[in-house]
Amino acid sequence: ETAATVIDGKRVAKDIREEVAVEISRMKDEIGIVPGLAVILVGDRKDSATYVRNKKKACDTVGINSYEVRFPEDSSEEEVLKHISKFNDDPSVHGILVQLPLPSHMNEQNILNAVCIEKDVDGFHPLNIGRLAMRGREPLFVPCTPKGCIELLHRYDIPIKGKRAVVIGRSNIVGMPAALLLQREDATVSIVHSRTKNPEEITRQADIIISAVGQPNMVRGNWVKPGAVLIDVGINPVEDPESPRGYRLVGDICYEEASKVASAITPVPGGVGPMTIAMLLSNTLLSAKRLHNFR
Ligand code: NDP
Repeated sequence: ETAATVIDGKRVAKDIREEVAVEISRMKDEIGIVPGLAVILVGDRKDSATYVRNKKKACDTVGINSYEVRFPEDSSEEEVLKHISKFNDDPSVHGILVQLPLPSHMNEQNILNAVCIEKDVDGFHPLNIGRLAMRGREPLFVPCTPKGCIELLHRYDIPIKGKRAVVIGRSNIVGMPAALLLQREDATVSIVHSRTKNPEEITRQADIIISAVGQPNMVRGNWVKPGAVLIDVGINPVEDPESPRGYRLVGDICYEEASKVASAITPVPGGVGPMTIAMLLSNTLLSAKRLHNFR
């Protein structure tokens, strides 16, 4: 029994931030353009406010201008749509991000459809998702969390082509695009969800598992084939009286058991989490380069 390689998302995310910062300063020097990211936050959910603050901080560290707009919980869909359209037309904005979830009186589809696909750095526009799903088509952007998962596999030289991959979860923001990306990389992909019978029989066949469920420690050691690679997207708070906050974060995968069976595994925290924002920065740079024809 040998211990699995720990896939260090924190370190990879730092490498990516540094690479992005270098490119941004080159762009500024050569054509005088600084990438800009607009972030729209509606309502006063604490977790959303924290995510937005972290995204803004990350922009600062690499030299991306960030423009934050906050709308009160009771604002109308029209007000938000108006602002999106303003950002669509603003040449200093290269990426537009609407922090989800939106208040329930707003139509998420209408809002996400309003972001022009050239600035859709979250990759949630149906045209970008549709292109991701189609052979021979290229999305302008790929959603950040699943892109981060694949980037981790690449940076650890983990082969995907011809491998059996299982994605647990089929959400629009993580599971579904992760499955599409793995398929584009020539893996043979199965998708497990809440109605799947005997999921462990399917996961046991996987060379690669990406789990995006939101159930603490659901994937046990005996769900995993020896030598499999495990990417854990789940971020789940569990009670922990020893911790000063009274809780700690764990993934969907039972790390203690699975790390004894797998060949490589992402920890929680410090695995996929830091990659999401790194990919957002990288998508924003990509957008600015494309909009200004800069190579
Ligand atoms: P959703 O709740 O939108 O989707 C969860 C998915 O898991 C659904 O497809 C659901 O199936 C499936 N599921 C639920 N229970 C089971 C079960 N018992 N067995 C198998 N499948 C199940 O969550 P998200 O995709 O938004 O997020 C998933 C996790 O990833 C969360 O813990 C979240 O916090 C984390 N996350 C982390 C990010 C990061 O690292 N930066 C970013 C985004 C999310 P069904 O479709 O049938 O309902």
